Amino acid sequence: MDQDELLPGLVLRARGGFYEIETSHGLITASLRGRFKQNRSSGELVAVGDRVKLQRLPDGGAVIEQIEERTRTLSRRSPGRGQEQVIVANPDQAVFVLSCADPEPNFRMLDRLLVVAEREALPALICANKLDLVEPRSAKAAFGVYQQIGYPVLYTSALKGKGVSELRQRLRGKLSVFAGPSGAGKSSLLNRVQPGMALRTAVRELLPLKGGGYLADTPGLKAFALWDIEPDELDGYFREMAPLVRQCDFSDCTHTHEPGCAVRAAVERGEIDPERYDSYLRMRAGDTD
Ligand code: GDP
Ligand code: ZN
Repeated sequence: MDQDELLPGLVLRARGGFYEIETSHGLITASLRGRFKQNRSSGELVAVGDRVKLQRLPDGGAVIEQIEERTRTLSRRSPGRGQEQVIVANPDQAVFVLSCADPEPNFRMLDRLLVVAEREALPALICANKLDLVEPRSAKAAFGVYQQIGYPVLYTSALKGKGVSELRQRLRGKLSVFAGPSGAGKSSLLNRVQPGMALRTAVRELLPLKGGGYLADTPGLKAFALWDIEPDELDGYFREMAPLVRQCDFSDCTHTHEPGCAVRAAVERGEIDPERYDSYLRMRAGDTD
């Protein structure tokens, strides 16, 4: 087949074997070329966020002929079966929304989300929302540790509209996935970014942003924090610990009790935040609360 005749597009929605593809010719519904389905179920082959090439058919329909290689994926690995389920293909960033108060920020959850983002090499942006409910100084004290270890933190108030234009800017031209505890203000914040925009998390879809870019809205994101991660790889996903690991006396140091542990020494010197270290210990022990 002539490559030039194939129409490139982005998968915005996946539903029952049909895919809604955004193309330069508008939205096109396509099915998957039969040969793709031979070995695996089509659900694993194409995910929202995939870049594909379409062959248009005389009857007005279209088939997906090619699936481009993914830059990265957000996947869920079902425990035990070890099978990967792709939730979103090619995400550019994760936005983790917490509230400064009401509910109190759950930093354990944030640390788990950050570990998953690190594993997927997905840049993370932290939104500290409901800034209007607290003294800005105390919010900065609480979230400052994340800035120190290199994560951008945006202080926002969906109520007052604070930080919204900066968030809008940071979403522009990117495929972003949102996560965070319910009640933190994700829907309110997104509504401020673009009126009418709210995550429904009922179907898998990408929501286009007016200034360019997309938000991933998928039910699977709720399980963002529940993916299994091997205890021995955890230290590599804590940014402030990863560079120290090679300085531990034991190459298989778990940083829990061993003598000559560079990570624990850094905690004792105040160079690693004790709460972050505590998160590490809990995750190592298999805590998922
Ligand atoms: P979601 O579950 O993360 O989508 O959170 P919602 O957007 O539904 O917000 C939960 C509650 O917090 C609602 O009652 C919102 O009105 C409120 N809320 C959201 N953002 C703010 C904010 O910036 N300040 C204050 N004071 N309340 C907010
Ligand atoms: Zn160690």
